[in-house]
Amino acid sequence: MSHTFKYDILVIGSLNADLVVRAPHFPRPGETISGDDLQIIPGGKGANQAVAAARQGANVGMIGRVGKDGFGDVLLQNLKNNRVDISDVERDDASTGTAIIVVDEAGQNSIILSAGANGKVTREDVKKHSPGFQAMQAVLLQLEIPLETVVFAAQSSFGNDALVILNPAPARTLPDELFKVIDYLIPNETELSILSGIQVTDLASAEKAARSLQEHGNFSVLVTMGGNGALIVDKFDHEIKHIPAFKVEVADTTAAGDAFIGGFASALLRGLKVEEAVKYANACGALAATKFGAQPSLPTKEEVEKFIKQG
Ligand code: ADP
Repeated sequence: MSHTFKYDILVIGSLNADLVVRAPHFPRPGETISGDDLQIIPGGKGANQAVAAARQGANVGMIGRVGKDGFGDVLLQNLKNNRVDISDVERDDASTGTAIIVVDEAGQNSIILSAGANGKVTREDVKKHSPGFQAMQAVLLQLEIPLETVVFAAQSSFGNDALVILNPAPARTLPDELFKVIDYLIPNETELSILSGIQVTDLASAEKAARSLQEHGNFSVLVTMGGNGALIVDKFDHEIKHIPAFKVEVADTTAAGDAFIGGFASALLRGLKVEEAVKYANACGALAATKFGAQPSLPTKEEVEKFIKQG
């Protein structure tokens, strides 16, 4: 990759501590039950995608906020261990973003998300820390920080050489001003349905929904479809392309989407064509689905290359 850029990829987004307890069932109001030992797992879509791309060998930086508490220390150390540059992550008086997750015996999740410091990421943070958006090749955005910050970040980057990649998660409708300043939109089927108001159930409805969104801007859409792989709805191409998934033994699909996005961005920056980059991203997502947890399941470049060769 080129050395004239400060980063290959800049992620502007969330960092969370996922606090996971397994219990026989979900507690009822007023009830106290015993669970297994607490697991503290680094998460947040922003941090997950930063780690996913860094494990693919990309030079990754991150803008975001954590609290001045112990969870903040853990999250920053974890990014460092994964070679993500943390010099642009601020410490906030608010507590670190956390997800309190109870998993019952059937494997179902019940989650309380506390945005904490993630909710304090402002356009001033973007202004202060961005070294000029010419200084990076791609900017990755999600929706776990305030929307107006996401819009500002996309507006600042778009039109420079940096590609703007938006993962619209968690799902919500979006303003037109954001659609005008992105190069790639990467939703899953649920997110695409909510964004477009069109129920996505198959390739035809996915194309229809994606094309309806493309009327608001000048971007390509990659729809991730779990075990069905991904759909490319390219802005330059009238034909859609369906790239099938790799067949794997699924253990836990948490962060499969984050693995896909980090893998896609890094593959594109290595010079792969969009179709090849999506195939590579499918391999990243499939490998993530074979392991438990968010960041622990994100594959390295060596693992992905070996997997594709065996494919
Ligand atoms: P999200 O985690 O955001 O809901 P998806 O479930 O669509 O995203 O998964 C993202 C990508 O991960 C898919 O496009 C696919 O490439 C891969 N993937 C997810 N689930 C599976 C699976 N069961 N088998 C193979 N690949 C999968």
